[in-house]
Amino acid sequence: MEKIEYNGEKIPYIIIKSKIKNMYIQIKDEKVIVKAPIQLKEKYVKEFVNKKSKWIYEGLKKNKVKSKTEEKIGQKKIERLTRIVEKTINKYSKVLNVKPNKVRIKNIKYAWGSCSSQRNISISMQLARKEEKVIEYVVLHEMCHLIYMNHSKNFWKLVEEYMPEYKEYKKKLKI
Ligand SMILES: [Zn+2]
Repeated sequence: MEKIEYNGEKIPYIIIKSKIKNMYIQIKDEKVIVKAPIQLKEKYVKEFVNKKSKWIYEGLKKNKVKSKTEEKIGQKKIERLTRIVEKTINKYSKVLNVKPNKVRIKNIKYAWGSCSSQRNISISMQLARKEEKVIEYVVLHEMCHLIYMNHSKNFWKLVEEYMPEYKEYKKKLKI
């Protein structure tokens, strides 16, 4: 197995060659996998990985924190959260006629959810402990941001239209 060094740490990685055009690196669980085109010389693969060593190192660190949080919350609860989020996204995609680009369940601490200008929705893993309706509220809230990128009157009107009792759930999140 090849290794790169960063910050005094030796990081092993696996090279998988396949019929692809561009090289890329995947960090899965705590493994580093480099996918490279078949014909590409080893030398270039190594150069590429070396250039990305900081990114790999930080990615691994982030993954470690994430798996620790997942462990603390419990796999079952995370799976439940994922199911509720998917179901709610599907439901409101239809009625609001909007679709997020990507939906991720992430280890966010500063918020329950977020919606970027690239139309990516992130949902905090910390919601895994909350009741279903509260999770649904956060998802609806973020989806309404696909229509209004602010907390204007119109935004809250839209939330209320689809979830008249939303204030009750909002209170439970203390936001
Ligand atoms: Zn908001």
